[in-house]
Amino acid sequence: MQIGFVGLGNMGGPMARRLIEAGHDLVVFDTHRPAVERLVALGAQAASAPREVADRADTVLASLPTPAVSLEVAIGDSGVIAGARVARYVDLSTIGATTAVQIHDRLAQRNIAALDSPVSGGVRGAERGALAVMVSGPHAEFDIVEPALETLGRPFYVGDKPGSAQTMKLANNILAANVLAATAEVVVMGVKAGLDPAVMIDVLNAGSGATSASRDKFPRAILPRTFDYGFATGLMVKDVRLYLEQARALGVPVEIADTVGRIWEAAAQEQGPDADFTTVIKPFEKAAGVVVRPGAT
Ligand code: NAD
Repeated sequence: MQIGFVGLGNMGGPMARRLIEAGHDLVVFDTHRPAVERLVALGAQAASAPREVADRADTVLASLPTPAVSLEVAIGDSGVIAGARVARYVDLSTIGATTAVQIHDRLAQRNIAALDSPVSGGVRGAERGALAVMVSGPHAEFDIVEPALETLGRPFYVGDKPGSAQTMKLANNILAANVLAATAEVVVMGVKAGLDPAVMIDVLNAGSGATSASRDKFPRAILPRTFDYGFATGLMVKDVRLYLEQARALGVPVEIADTVGRIWEAAAQEQGPDADFTTVIKPFEKAAGVVVRPGAT
């Protein structure tokens, strides 16, 4: 299998590196030249557009920032769809079910199989090959790419219906968005009341209040005030909006997601979309007049 990789950012960079280290010859493209150069230094070949990647590879993977960019890369004029060699396209980005279906349908017209394959586990998971890799699309195509996906983490076949893996990913991310915002709100309350946030996190993690935020995001990026977890607030807002869009289209309740969505929208307004998503605690701190810093009480 000749693999191509488009989008070499926080997630795509380490995923592409792992594929090279597993012995794959990679053809890569990113609009950000330094990202390409990092991979070329590891042995990848550079291409000049997604189309050229798809001219040279039979299997093209992508990890891109927005649904609009995924559409452009997959089915745009210089997109994967115009490539001569490509047989399958695997989108590792979070783009929502509607866009995944759109890409699937257009590529099908050119006999290119599409697998939507969003991932969870953050930059650390990407670096260590420890991602949850959700996949939907034709099972025969999943069988072909499964060994490569195992280099990235643990593949989960969600179903053959295009977009199903996106639905699963949005369910995961809305919960991650909920618990990070909720944990931030609660820890700010504790600090205002005089508790040490480091002690709070230790107790939560030993008790029934533990969340993925208290286990991972607080110790790594919030308590040390480094705010460098590696996921942009703008990307979280994108995922929350995609979840709300899909849930509203289904006519299901969105009371919690709606409230949490407003918190993320406000955080992106205040900190900017490029700020790390762990800065979501800052508006809570500002409103309470405290800073969540161990030993500061
Ligand atoms: P990122 O912004 O770090 O990387 C995106 C890359 O795409 C950048 O290198 C950018 O230059 C490149 N790019 C933009 N437009 C392009 C184009 N037209 N052609 C080629 N390359 C282009 O984003 P990321 O954090 O790596 O996230 C990528 C996807 O993975 C998103 O859908 C995100 O929601 C999802 N995701 C991210 C994380 C995380 O923790 N960062 C975790 C799980 C899923």
